[in-house]
Amino acid sequence: MAGQERNRVRVVVVGGGTAGWMTAAGLATLIPAAADVHLVESAEIGIVGVGEATLPHLRAFIQRLGIDEIAFMTATHATFKLGIDFRDFGRIGDRYVHPFGTYGQPLGGVGFHHYWLRRHHGGNPTPLGAYSAGVVAGERARFARPDPTSDALQDSFGYAYQFDATRFAPFLRTHAEARGCRRTEGRVVSVGRDERDGRVTAIHLADGTRIEGDLFVDCSGFRALLIGGELDEAWEDWSHWLPCDRAVAVPCTHAPGPIEPLTRATAMPAGWRWRIPLTTRVGNGYVYASRYCDEDTAREALLAGLEGEALAEPRLLRFRAGRRRHSWSHNVVAVGLASGFLEPLESTSIYLVQMAITALIEHFPDARVTDADRDGFNTAVDAEYDRIRDFLILHYHATTRDDSPFWDHVRTMAIPDTLADRIALWRQTAQVAHYSYGLFLEPSWLAVYLGQNIVPDGWDPRADGADPAKLDQALAALAAGIGTAIDALPPHEASLPR
Ligand code: FAD
Repeated sequence: MAGQERNRVRVVVVGGGTAGWMTAAGLATLIPAAADVHLVESAEIGIVGVGEATLPHLRAFIQRLGIDEIAFMTATHATFKLGIDFRDFGRIGDRYVHPFGTYGQPLGGVGFHHYWLRRHHGGNPTPLGAYSAGVVAGERARFARPDPTSDALQDSFGYAYQFDATRFAPFLRTHAEARGCRRTEGRVVSVGRDERDGRVTAIHLADGTRIEGDLFVDCSGFRALLIGGELDEAWEDWSHWLPCDRAVAVPCTHAPGPIEPLTRATAMPAGWRWRIPLTTRVGNGYVYASRYCDEDTAREALLAGLEGEALAEPRLLRFRAGRRRHSWSHNVVAVGLASGFLEPLESTSIYLVQMAITALIEHFPDARVTDADRDGFNTAVDAEYDRIRDFLILHYHATTRDDSPFWDHVRTMAIPDTLADRIALWRQTAQVAHYSYGLFLEPSWLAVYLGQNIVPDGWDPRADGADPAKLDQALAALAAGIGTAIDALPPHEASLPR
């Protein structure tokens, strides 16, 4: 049977931060025949405007939108990011990089890390990171865009961006408006509902304007005007596992030295601090738990650790770790901070915005939303949140630190069963439970487990075959090959558009 032509769905996006403009640009570019997009934002209220570190998936997003990478990087003062440089998490003095890329290559169908574990226990001191081109390039501040079709060592990593988040939304706005998205400036003061089925029919602005729609995307940030304020969708609180609930943030000048293609996360007495180098400045923030640290102490610690001159007064941000029980309820879809927040330790928020847009497009409704649309979207979003939550908790829980009440708490706290099961599997078998899609695949878990000293006693028995001395030689040759290939790349700074 021939399908029917669909009518364009009137989509009203409430909020013009990163989530709002990514949604508007995504829908207007990718499904212009299905969605008629209208965005409402309030300059008076403003945007969160931190969120400077991203994941490699953002590259695919800007490519699919037809955005030129150089234009995007120039507009947002972006640098390349090859991973996160974690310091002092497992123990004070420890350091490891969580890269975007793999370690070595599987041999005979057995993961490289099994061979590494065998030789690690046999006394070979070389860290796992020496076998990752992404780690070595990050640490040596080298960069060239990898060729995805090549098997060469210097091409075996992925990359993301570190950018000025306040410049991303205005950049996307230009793109979305050029593709037919309408924009209205104004403050939403009330919401119209259908009395029979409870769906939202219109929003009302302070100046009396009424904007009707079929589908409403709530991108109003922590205010969550529609999903929380109007629909009162339940909030699932995860702060007992992720107790950080504040950040103080401040930009500073660059200190002399290369611009690193790495975001740095350094553990602090009541949380951790970020350091994110852009082309024009360095972003810094101390993410902390207010139960263990007051604002003045956090501010002083942040300023005391700056490597350059502060460029503003530190700014305080409040948040709670958790998510809406349902991100899509009635005909309201929450995207961005309105949907949930898991603290910025692994730079996952913008990724969650992007995956929600993809899921929305995959489950895009006709003028009337069906349960199947909603359920499909919510299932996809829930799976991502749950996984990211467990991965973040691992960073806190996998520590031997007991030098402050905060670290002692996260070290000893109860963790979700899903995470406890994963850690047990890893300890007993050196296997990482697999996902077929989504964030944080095997190399990410390896980075944190081994970087934070959860080292299984054994390894896959199939890694036992090779002669230990020959294995050490092969490992040394691999690390040397990676080092030589990476040293041949240009310095990171030489690859940056300015
Ligand atoms: P907002 O930026 O708050 O935008 C909300 C929009 O809604 C604004 O346009 C506002 O004007 C509008 N609005 C609100 N109320 C009304 C109203 N009544 N009427 C009209 N308009 C209204 N993400 C990462 O990916 N990487 C990171 O490194 C990272 N670091 C972070 C660090 C911290 C401390 C925090 C708090 C967040 C971080 N994030 C990070 C998250 C990232 O900043 C956000 O996910 C992202 O900016 C999306 O925000 P948003 O668009 O949902 O909300």
